[in-house]
Amino acid sequence: MNPDSTGLIDFIDGNKIWEIVDSTTRTEADQVYDILDKAAEAKGLSLEETARLLQVEDLELNEAIFETARKVKQEIYGNRMVLFAPLYITNECSNRCAYCGFKATNKELQRRTLSADEIRQEVSVLENQGHKRLLLVYGEHPKFGADWIAETVRKVYDTVSEKSGEIRRVNINCAPLDVEGFRKLHEVGIGTYQCFQETYHRETYAELHPSGHKKDYLWRLHAMHRAMEAGIDDVGMGTLLGLYDYRFDTIALLTHAAELEAKFGVGPHTLSFPRLEPALNADIAFNPPYPIFDAQFKRLVAVLRLSVPYTGLILSTREGRGLRRELLDLGVSQLSAGSRTYPGAYSDPDYDRPDVQQFCIGDNRSLEEVISEIVEHGYVPSWCTACYRAGRTGEQFMELAKKGFIQEFCHPNALLTFKEYLLDYAHKDTQKRGNSLISRELECFAVKRKGVVSDRLNRIEHGERDLFL
Ligand code: SAM
Ligand code: SF4
Repeated sequence: MNPDSTGLIDFIDGNKIWEIVDSTTRTEADQVYDILDKAAEAKGLSLEETARLLQVEDLELNEAIFETARKVKQEIYGNRMVLFAPLYITNECSNRCAYCGFKATNKELQRRTLSADEIRQEVSVLENQGHKRLLLVYGEHPKFGADWIAETVRKVYDTVSEKSGEIRRVNINCAPLDVEGFRKLHEVGIGTYQCFQETYHRETYAELHPSGHKKDYLWRLHAMHRAMEAGIDDVGMGTLLGLYDYRFDTIALLTHAAELEAKFGVGPHTLSFPRLEPALNADIAFNPPYPIFDAQFKRLVAVLRLSVPYTGLILSTREGRGLRRELLDLGVSQLSAGSRTYPGAYSDPDYDRPDVQQFCIGDNRSLEEVISEIVEHGYVPSWCTACYRAGRTGEQFMELAKKGFIQEFCHPNALLTFKEYLLDYAHKDTQKRGNSLISRELECFAVKRKGVVSDRLNRIEHGERDLFL
């Protein structure tokens, strides 16, 4: 672990990670059940235990992994599901990531950066659908520094539409900044800073990122350190599956998480595990060098749920409807819905243009359609932003989560935000099904809690908004 010339240390030891993966390819059934007994206590798993579960092929043992993941998921998160939408601000980019439609060498892509008015327009459309949480997405270009990014975040928060519409949490996915840059984002009130390492395998990383700022692996690897140093304590990490062996990248991702926990007392707030999707002029995206198949992907989600039980797991619309449905039970806690992946897409009457979007989407349904389906399956959609706005972030949030806070506070807050959605945005039949779900959920609360939540639901019926516990 020697520092490079910039003083940054590579804390991902590739040889050690391969050693863990290689030494755990075969695991006896008894050993799998022992690991699952431990996992059921929701205290997490070691890297070695995680690698063992990741490589279990036997169908019966796989079902045992899924069963344990479903239980842990239910115990910690219950049946609430946080919803959000990505908002692409710019697709201008000076990097050349081999897999991305936004790469600088893609001359066929129409480049666009939203103006302040266009940002307002896009946000209004999303607010009028009922969204309260957005993830802003940016290409990396020298034109766009931290001040400019902070200004776009401010624009989003400042856009308030009719029907009580406002965005209450802005998360962002942009290229890594320096500490001072991250401080500007913190000051403007971003929720989570999200950035994926893509792959932790250095040779593969070098091949896929031949030029531009993103070429610098260590600068990116230390992005979360700098963000945390700047006071952003909710960070979201991930790897882009399909670039390298998913077992290697998963164990490396968890090593990265452990490094943050050791250094800052808290690991990532969320993990993402996007799979490579076809993208305009990105040959590698049509033909992933290391494809990860559905069965492996499902196991990966379940194993992550067991390995880091209190870390949010995010699923995007890259995946298709059927698989998304299954993955909710297995561990996912946040879902994007109604997503469009190019700047200006939400106000585009000619939506669905491959010449502008970043990659192909697997689930094209609207927010309301997604809500309708998850409600049918007994999930409560949530737009809750209470913790972030009450300053319960980072280590403080993780401590609370471990004491059952999610069920005690997040669940009632989910019902309150869902009630707002039903009143302000839902069609009649969703309203009907949603209200009966809320009534059923209320019956599960202890008497005192039920009284408090019923009172707030009543106030919302009478026009108050943004109430939370
Ligand atoms: N430009 C910034 C960066 O690269 O970190 C942030 C925005 S970039 C559009 C967000 C993420 O999209 C990347 O980190 C990458 O994992 C993902 N991505 C890029 N191309 C993709 C593809 N073809 N399929 C799926 N995800 C892709
Ligand atoms: Fe640019 Fe990000 Fe796409 Fe790479 S992944 S080309 S940095 S937008």
